[in-house]
Amino acid sequence: DATKLKDFEIAELAEKNMPTPAEWVEKLGLEKDEVIPYGRICKLDFMKIIERLKDRPNGKFIEVTAITPTPLGEGKTTTTMGLVEGLGKRGMNVGAAIRQPSGGPTMNIKGTAAGGGNALAIPMTEFSLGLTGDLNDIMNAHNLAMVALTARMQHERNYDDAELAKRNLRRLDIDPTRVEMGWVIDFCAQALRNIIIGIGGRMDGYMMQSKFGIAVSSELMAILAVATDLKDLRERLGRIIVAYDKKGNPVTTSDLEVAGAMCAWMRNTINPTLMSTVEYQPVLVHAGPFANIAIGQSSIIADRIGLKMFDYHVTESGFGADIGFEKFWNVKCRLSGLVPNVSVVTATIRALKMHGGGPKVVPGRPLPDEYTRENLELLEKGIPNLLHHIATVRKAGINPVVCINSFYTDTKEEIAMVKRYAEQAGARCAVSQHWLKGGEGALELADAVIDACNDSVDFKFLYPLEMPLRQRVEIIAKEVYGADGVSWTPEAEAKAKRFESDPAYADFATMMVKTHLSLTHDPNLKGVPKGWILPVRDVLVYAGAKFLCPMTGTISLMPGTSSDPAYRRVDVDVETGKVLGLF
Ligand code: ADP
Ligand code: MG
Repeated sequence: DATKLKDFEIAELAEKNMPTPAEWVEKLGLEKDEVIPYGRICKLDFMKIIERLKDRPNGKFIEVTAITPTPLGEGKTTTTMGLVEGLGKRGMNVGAAIRQPSGGPTMNIKGTAAGGGNALAIPMTEFSLGLTGDLNDIMNAHNLAMVALTARMQHERNYDDAELAKRNLRRLDIDPTRVEMGWVIDFCAQALRNIIIGIGGRMDGYMMQSKFGIAVSSELMAILAVATDLKDLRERLGRIIVAYDKKGNPVTTSDLEVAGAMCAWMRNTINPTLMSTVEYQPVLVHAGPFANIAIGQSSIIADRIGLKMFDYHVTESGFGADIGFEKFWNVKCRLSGLVPNVSVVTATIRALKMHGGGPKVVPGRPLPDEYTRENLELLEKGIPNLLHHIATVRKAGINPVVCINSFYTDTKEEIAMVKRYAEQAGARCAVSQHWLKGGEGALELADAVIDACNDSVDFKFLYPLEMPLRQRVEIIAKEVYGADGVSWTPEAEAKAKRFESDPAYADFATMMVKTHLSLTHDPNLKGVPKGWILPVRDVLVYAGAKFLCPMTGTISLMPGTSSDPAYRRVDVDVETGKVLGLF
């Protein structure tokens, strides 16, 4: 009973019968050497499996997105797990891909991200605490680039040209005020946002200002999520701009001759980790990029392998459809060449009421009464947000399935109202009780998705790659966010013009940076705001990932730890070895 048990307790019960790596080999028809065990879970050998299954047709590709969420999240992961369980109950060969959580939020305020109730991924402890080490590998590879950079700056300062030549080094002449890259750690450590390094003597490095970001904001993580294979990963790792020289030319990881070693540290990260739903369908976990400067969803590699292994592959795309689906559609699918069959738009009564003018929802505080008692007036006022996201998905040529992720406090009348509006808009709509009842509660959703998979899809991108950057941003702002137009600061416009006129950036993806808590750049504006202009303040460039990121708000690549962080409640039961207090 999900209303009485905590997620961890549900997980623990299910983990007793979780398939072992050897059982997965059997269950999924894999070769023995295609699983790489890590304790009670395993990784899948991407290269072996993709090679063996290369002639197998892809399964159906189902993407899960959401309406504009409350800060609590509206259950995309939960719905992804529920849908997989529901399709499993219908006897389908099904699996999913989700992203790996970061240690920072897990130990701070957000908790883990394994779904909830009876729609949950297990084992939760491993999931929450580092999984199979990909994040460590990424951190090491990233910090190795910084080691290479700082050592080189010291040596170039200490040696004259003749000494450098003896070592077969050319002077890179790095400008210490234009070092772009910082170090990474996977916790929220605000004290490391701005630091000074290299204090000491001649042998203690080059003294300069430096910085730390959270590991999941690393460009290497962004790259892992969009790399199509190892070759692509290696190439992108070599193009990362670490700094600029005194003439303003980029200095890359290739210039530092460190990209090969970085790729060696990351070699195992191309293999997705295999987890399980609480009803024992396979769940791939791969990559966990920050949603703002990156795609914010699991990887292309996970989708490639999932589509070969499963007849129905469900992938979660992060945040509301304006951010998550837009990046899935125009970036991830463009890079992978994969075409989705269905998009599921997750909606909750509580988020719709918030869009209708309901009181502020604050994580960690009790939910105001409006959200747990029937209130058809607020709900009806909030419906336009759902209709807006339905229309967005349609622009990709996909007819979405709306999933009402039902909370046990929702009333019949409320659910009927959402259903009526969604169906009036021409979308399929299913009420789903996976949180409460697992796969059994998700049959209506599973059936709607199976049915929708038979629709023909006329998948089209919002803009062609030839379209210049500023025009792309304009079209995203108008068509996806509902803005009247875009304004650029002089600096942002100058940068954009430079990128537009340089053919080197022609095939760079446009990776919008915007809050997910509103269709606009202002998280306080709910519903479907009208008559506004999207302000672009800067454009960041990630040359390895090949992203240009127009910034519509400030982002911190290093979040802070709050005064009541989750780690206060985490411990280990020394009698049993069990981890306590994760949520
Ligand atoms: P998202 O992936 O969209 O961020 P999650 O699936 O992580 O959202 O869900 C956010 C939180 O809401 C989780 O704590 C989850 O357990 C809870 N939740 C999701 N769906 C339901 C539901 N139907 N009933 C109760 N709690 C839910
Ligand atoms: Mg999620």
